[in-house]
Amino acid sequence: MKLITNKVYGAEDILPSDSYKWQFIEDIMRGQAQSYGFSEIRTPVFEHTELFNRSVGDTTDIVQKEMYSFTTKGGDDISLKPEGTAGAARAMLEHGIYNDGYPIKVYYLTACYRYEKKNYGRQREFHQFGMEVYGAASAYADAEVMCAANSIFERLGVKNISLEINSIGCPNCRPNYLAALREYFGSHKEELCETCQTRLERNPMRILDCKSPICSGIAEKAPKVIDFLCDDCKKHFDEVKSCLDAVKINYTVNPSIVRGLDYYTRTVFEFVAPEIGTVCGGGRYDGLIEELGGQHTPSLGFGMGMERLLLLLEKNNIVLDTPPVCDLYIAGISDAARVKAFELVEGIRSSSLIAECDIVGRKLKQQMKYADKLKSKFSMVLGDDDLAANKAKVKNMATGTSKEVPLDDNFYDAFFKIYVNGESDIYLQKLGISDEE
Ligand code: ATP
Ligand code: MG
Repeated sequence: MKLITNKVYGAEDILPSDSYKWQFIEDIMRGQAQSYGFSEIRTPVFEHTELFNRSVGDTTDIVQKEMYSFTTKGGDDISLKPEGTAGAARAMLEHGIYNDGYPIKVYYLTACYRYEKKNYGRQREFHQFGMEVYGAASAYADAEVMCAANSIFERLGVKNISLEINSIGCPNCRPNYLAALREYFGSHKEELCETCQTRLERNPMRILDCKSPICSGIAEKAPKVIDFLCDDCKKHFDEVKSCLDAVKINYTVNPSIVRGLDYYTRTVFEFVAPEIGTVCGGGRYDGLIEELGGQHTPSLGFGMGMERLLLLLEKNNIVLDTPPVCDLYIAGISDAARVKAFELVEGIRSSSLIAECDIVGRKLKQQMKYADKLKSKFSMVLGDDDLAANKAKVKNMATGTSKEVPLDDNFYDAFFKIYVNGESDIYLQKLGISDEE
């Protein structure tokens, strides 16, 4: 039979040789989210397509070109989530969790789907960590989410990443800006790509993040939104900058950042790394909840790409420790000894240490080779003699020393003592200090 060995274009497997890195990063993200008072939200991988049309916006690249949309057998129009915010906002409204009072602070770790060309740091299935705040209008909230994102980079020890911020105004000042953009792009209409020509009337800001080289070339000289801000937006932006200054977070104002999603208002920001590009993007979306039919709810957040973050760690030469694989390997010689090994290993595991015994039918020599391959910290060989004597020897694989342990219920306490001592022996060895000193 023909082997099925091709994954779908743009999707990647995360194998055991890499999954520990994901777990390490995710643990840091969960920990930082907790420190900042965010709780996890998990929403479905698909939603009604209408949700994304209205939130992400039907003139964006995501909705126009990148969404995985389909009609179900029952006739529903469904899309795989291209980002995490829309689902979180929908869930917040659907379950009325705002009734418990604002602000609501949630984070998510999710797969996202965009029909894009595969590239360095660009996949069709990718993963985002995101944080969201609903019901917070003040500049402190903007600074808080940027600090939270920044804290993750700091925790990971990433150095070459910079924060770029901008303000893209609000419904008060936006119309003046859009008029200026229409005038500017209108004078280049014939040169724009087909999609951007249709955007000219409906949403000329989207032309600013068009990926076509001709459109982006024209966009470089377009009027900048920061020159069109109303007094309230200016004040808000100044306050955001003061908050960041207070906690000594470096940033630059980049007037070209507009973000690729329609729901943004006022603050937008990106954490950018050389060669990789934007690793984390976010901002304020005060109109989003109303767009979904809810009450006016000033909101904000960011999405951080997991795959790009992993590339960033590589670029920073950050090597994450591989997790321990085995604390104790128990080899069995006879059938009875194998049963005893199985029993003891099971007991060790209940005390959260890692233990292994043979489950593939290897002979003793191969069992010990396997224990070496696992880099087991300790090993023990059981034969019928050991069972009869009701004791055996535990060997410290690093130092080569052995200690006797009983094979009855006292085995676990005895092994634990040896384990703890062994750990400190290895630690002392690493420091170059011998036990006697
Ligand atoms: P880009 O301009 O690179 O396409 P974007 O503005 O579309 O990014 P966002 O929608 O803001 O990206 O998503 C937030 C983060 O998710 C990005 O900064 C990036 O790290 C990650 N991301 C977005 N699209 C992809 C993708 N196709 N593959 C991998 N990561 C992605
Ligand atoms: Mg994109």
